[in-house]
Amino acid sequence: HQTFLCFLASLVLVIHAGPISQPSDKDEATAEHYLKSFYNLTDVTDETTAVRREAIQLTEKMKEMQKFFGFKVTGKLDKETMEMMKKPRCGVPDVAAYSTFEGKPKWQTNKLTYRILNYTPDMSVAEVDTSMEKALQVWAKVTPLKFTRIYSGTADIMISFGTRYHGDAYPFDGPQGTLAHAFAPSLAIGGDAHFDDDEFFTFRSSKGFVLFLVAAHEFGHSLGLSHSNVRGALMFPTYSFTDPNHFSLPSDDIRGIQSLYGPNRDRTPIQPDPEVPTTPNACDPNLILDAVTTLRGETMFFKDSFFWRRSPSRSVTQLPIKRFWLNAPNNIDAAYEDPVQDKLFFFKGRQVWAFNGINLVPGYPKTLSSFGLPSSVRKVSAAVHVKSSGKTLLFIDKVYYSYDARAKKMDRRYPQRVESGFSEMTGAVTAAHISNGYIYLYSGTNVYEFGLYSKKYLRELKNNFFLPC
Ligand SMILES: [Zn+2]
Ligand SMILES: [Zn+2]
Repeated sequence: HQTFLCFLASLVLVIHAGPISQPSDKDEATAEHYLKSFYNLTDVTDETTAVRREAIQLTEKMKEMQKFFGFKVTGKLDKETMEMMKKPRCGVPDVAAYSTFEGKPKWQTNKLTYRILNYTPDMSVAEVDTSMEKALQVWAKVTPLKFTRIYSGTADIMISFGTRYHGDAYPFDGPQGTLAHAFAPSLAIGGDAHFDDDEFFTFRSSKGFVLFLVAAHEFGHSLGLSHSNVRGALMFPTYSFTDPNHFSLPSDDIRGIQSLYGPNRDRTPIQPDPEVPTTPNACDPNLILDAVTTLRGETMFFKDSFFWRRSPSRSVTQLPIKRFWLNAPNNIDAAYEDPVQDKLFFFKGRQVWAFNGINLVPGYPKTLSSFGLPSSVRKVSAAVHVKSSGKTLLFIDKVYYSYDARAKKMDRRYPQRVESGFSEMTGAVTAAHISNGYIYLYSGTNVYEFGLYSKKYLRELKNNFFLPC
């Protein structure tokens, strides 16, 4: 019978993207290899029509892949597509939303056993035991499945650490790349999970790979789940750090596992936790962004625990905030970039965080009083920095302050009503940014465009004006 295998691979974080360019021969070769591996692109050997058929099939497979990741479906090897293809990833072909393996293999009993065969030197035995136990409980909480640990004999799920050739047909690849793999439910090797011990595993640190997170993903495969294309889902193909103490299973994964085993009847039905990321939708006509800022030539649009990142070439990707800024809060109120200091500021409640690239600046978070704001201010609703004047405008609903970043003090004669500086702007400002000599003030689902220097009102747009929809 067929055995299904999965690799969870590391994600390389790139904060800066280069300019768009024609794909090189190497890129073309990478794309072809990628589509052969994950999208069932087949070699064409018929001599007469081979070249043409291959080209058509390549385009079709490229479109499938772009559709899976929610990119613009062009069939062309654009920058966004190439970037995704270069990320090390899982070895199982992609399918939409949560999914199960072909033939829907699942365990025929709800009482499963597991056994930990050996340990990684990276962590204590107790930490490994706890990580595995917690990772199985992620799935047990939402299903009737029960896991019992055994210490000898053959368990349904045999857990082991190995490097390179480790006893099956799928050798590991050394540091980085593949982190682990697991086999879908069946007898013998089915259900087993192998971890690449050339990786550095950790209990909860963002340096290295959190064993609990890797194991929870792999056990999803052990129980019969394949990959999901929902960003933020545990079964998304690439690794992403989350604080294990605040982990809760996303609703897409809950729906997936319950399609195989049903809900957990011993407990009150689990509602998807509102704190658990559901990916914001740029096409939602009621979208209200939390904050918008520039960062080193790109523009970042924040919503809940995610942000969209728009490059100067206008390609847009959506990522969890914590994948870039581990120490940043979710659901931020406001953000701005000070390009002179090369700092990015996030506001939430009475606190402000400063980042240099992706690194938290020592001494932060600080309170709003570090900007000279009165203690009566409970939150900043929008912020934007005007480079030419060195002033940072801090909006508190319908009024705004002007902070002089060079003198490090608040300008006099503020706060002023927003309307007095920006005519027509009568609503509360919820986000603000500057682009190409225009200042954009967000209010509710609308965005108002003003000339940066003239402050002249130009037009009304929707919150998703800069986002692909
Ligand atoms: Zn996987
Ligand atoms: Zn293996």
